[in-house]
Amino acid sequence: MERLFVILLYVSPDFPVKTDNGIEGFSELKVKIMRRRTNRQRGVKKNRRGGHISMEIIREMREHDYEQVVFCSHKSSGLRAIIVIHDTTLGPAIGGTRMWPYKTEEEAITDGLRLARGMTYKCAAAGLNLGGGKAVIIGDPRKDKSEGLFRAFGRFVDTLGGRFITGEDVGITLEDVDLIGSETRWVGGSSESSGDPGPVTAYGVWHGLKACAKAAFGDDSLKGLTIAIQGAGNVGYHLAKHLNQEGANLIISDIFPDKVERAEQEFGAKAVEPEEIYKVPCDIFAPCALGAIINDDTIPQLKCKVVAGSANNQLKEDKHGAALEDRGILYAPDFIINAGGVINVADGLYGYNRERAMKKAQGIYDILLRVFEISKQDKIPTNNAALKLAEERIELIAQLSARIRKGPGKGLIL
Ligand code: NAD
Repeated sequence: MERLFVILLYVSPDFPVKTDNGIEGFSELKVKIMRRRTNRQRGVKKNRRGGHISMEIIREMREHDYEQVVFCSHKSSGLRAIIVIHDTTLGPAIGGTRMWPYKTEEEAITDGLRLARGMTYKCAAAGLNLGGGKAVIIGDPRKDKSEGLFRAFGRFVDTLGGRFITGEDVGITLEDVDLIGSETRWVGGSSESSGDPGPVTAYGVWHGLKACAKAAFGDDSLKGLTIAIQGAGNVGYHLAKHLNQEGANLIISDIFPDKVERAEQEFGAKAVEPEEIYKVPCDIFAPCALGAIINDDTIPQLKCKVVAGSANNQLKEDKHGAALEDRGILYAPDFIINAGGVINVADGLYGYNRERAMKKAQGIYDILLRVFEISKQDKIPTNNAALKLAEERIELIAQLSARIRKGPGKGLIL
């Protein structure tokens, strides 16, 4: 499908102002001038490979069909942020805002692009009527936060008029989300709506683990199974609670001793050192800490039958999905099993109902079984089966919009 894509470069001495003809109307020339000026200021014209960074972004946007990239700058608060909208076929793009001390702007853009695309697939597979987006703020979350920074960012989000809805991600707290929300209504997961998504994510992961047990062991009960959890943080802790209540045996690792002790005391979990968690004999290994932990080094160490946990981007590279399959290990694709968080935030957009959000997160059980079925039928690794499921839904809805005109609404165009 051919699509118009847009790059906006906002460099504002003050808060941005909405133009009459909308943000798409931002003059080409002004963008060019701004680009030249920022290049001059930075003294950086070309990247390592000798190409202009902007050309690389455009190439990347074309290759993976991104809709829009917005650069935001507000001098007096120190805000430097990038908002990426990947795909709005299913609805407005949703995605948390990440604050991170990226070494270069290029690194921040790359992260934003990658994460926004992941959100498209996560929402599509979870059955949400939302597209994929993400925002990154360049800065150290321990030092660079201020009211002005988040309110300036909130105003930029607002200029997109609801095409992008944001919330918490790495480096951003509920208080920060509330500050962003004081300037725009396009936030999810604020303290006034669905709040911390961690417990609902854990609830979805628990049901995902049950689907994995059904597929791998023929029974979805986790009672008596040994489950090794990497990371006893927000999601890991709540997951351990559900598993303990169901009668699973737990092994736990974390880099912080207090988190390990809490799991030992409350759930009778057996603690192991962080680097030991890959090699412990267990039925299910549940990564709930970091990305890229399924890789060439760790796959040969694994002594489990299933890998299923909340961490984002668990596979270091796509090929590691096939490598797990070759070792006879069932992999629950991360963006399917950890969708409880976005399901929870999405529910808050329609007047939050915790029970409804939990019920939808429970549906991850059936979605995972469907992914395993596709994987078997098409003889493809489960990570590719998950992408196929998501892409098919996006395509279906795109076809609907192309063929079936909706009834007249307020904005009827004849
Ligand atoms: P968190 O920061 O509360 O917990 C992560 C835990 O992992 C921390 O306790 C940390 O000390 C521990 N950890 C870090 N490095 C480790 C290592 N090498 N070995 C063992 N433990 C280590 O984060 P969270 O909200 O629980 O999220 C966990 C994962 O799930 C992240 O990858 C996150 O992106 C993903 N995720 C979270 C949500 C959510 O709703 N919170 C939703 C979707 C995905």
